[in-house]
Amino acid sequence: MEERQGVTHHVMDHVDWTDTYDMQRFAREAQTAIDDILRRGKVPIIIGGTHYYLQNLLFHNKTVGAEVKRTRPITEAERAILDGPGDQLWPALQQVDPVIAEKFHPQDHRKLRRALEIYYETGAAPSQLYRDQKLEELEQSSLKFNSLLFWVYSDREVLVPRLDARVDKMMASGARDEIREMYQVYQQSGASDCTSGVWQVIGFKEFLPWLESGEASGDAWAEGIERMKSRTRQYAKYQVKWIKRLLGVELQKEARFNWVNGGKMYLLDATDLSQWSTRVRDRGVAIASEFIARSPITEPQAPPHLEHILPSEEYLATITSGKTLEGARQWKHFQCDICKDSHGNPLVSVGEEQHRLHMKSRRHRSTKHKLEKQRLGQRPYAAPKRTNSKLLTDDDDVNET
Ligand SMILES: [Zn+2]
Repeated sequence: MEERQGVTHHVMDHVDWTDTYDMQRFAREAQTAIDDILRRGKVPIIIGGTHYYLQNLLFHNKTVGAEVKRTRPITEAERAILDGPGDQLWPALQQVDPVIAEKFHPQDHRKLRRALEIYYETGAAPSQLYRDQKLEELEQSSLKFNSLLFWVYSDREVLVPRLDARVDKMMASGARDEIREMYQVYQQSGASDCTSGVWQVIGFKEFLPWLESGEASGDAWAEGIERMKSRTRQYAKYQVKWIKRLLGVELQKEARFNWVNGGKMYLLDATDLSQWSTRVRDRGVAIASEFIARSPITEPQAPPHLEHILPSEEYLATITSGKTLEGARQWKHFQCDICKDSHGNPLVSVGEEQHRLHMKSRRHRSTKHKLEKQRLGQRPYAAPKRTNSKLLTDDDDVNET
């Protein structure tokens, strides 16, 4: 309580151990508190917590690639195509939807079959459905609110001892009673393990051996603390991964709206606590003031020495390529003039980028080399030798170079 320094906290300490508390309830309660705070002309601040709770609160739940509405049954003739030979699939798709056909490799039977199936079931061109879905996805920000995010960051070398110290402090200030209280409820609830509900929280099941020994063993208590520390460290690691890989990336996509919906994440460096007032407090206040005044934020997202922690341009490019309408423009087949696939047909790459990679690949260079040798060699009329490499598809790693 003394940590809260008189700031009103909402949606906290209001749930009994016996209550089931889930994401839906949290989202509902948090939303009510947010609406109430906004109505009073104030700015709600959301702190810490479990990251998937936060995700659910901040972002619209968009299920991309969701189900397609069937409007007609598949005819026998269509079924015959779907179940027929794989090399008939691409020509069949090409006939009904030449745009989407260019997106798939002729040997990517699974995707071709799925696209044809969509067409047969809906009568709509898969490329149009894809486009509608992408447009919807691109036109709307994923964020529910105009949000500003802070990541109070610490290097792991200092974070670990800090987390350990926090556990020690909790254990010294009444956590033991809380654990005993939970254990009573646990016993009454008839729960047989800690795999569900509140029993999963960090700081209960670690102490079960101690509780079950009748609190007799001081060693069991100390071991419980060690287990709790180790689980806290793992959790912190997982959180960092989530911020970097999911939250950071999702937010960075807001760049396409020039951040008019907010969503920029700012790193505050709390590694050196003696610099807290400048690196965390002052910088945080400066950023927040500009955000609240709705003026452009002049501070960089990360101090120079932490820039590498934000998702890089290159990483974002790998995530968004093929997932935007830009990607749709890339749908085009490219044939290599000299390489053949395992059927003896000209090798096909989907998209200019894949083609470019192929032209640089070891495979292509080796075909070229063999052809040149044959041209100069004693058997000028010999057919070019086929390579046995697999075809390139969407999912293949093409970094052969
Ligand atoms: Zn080639």
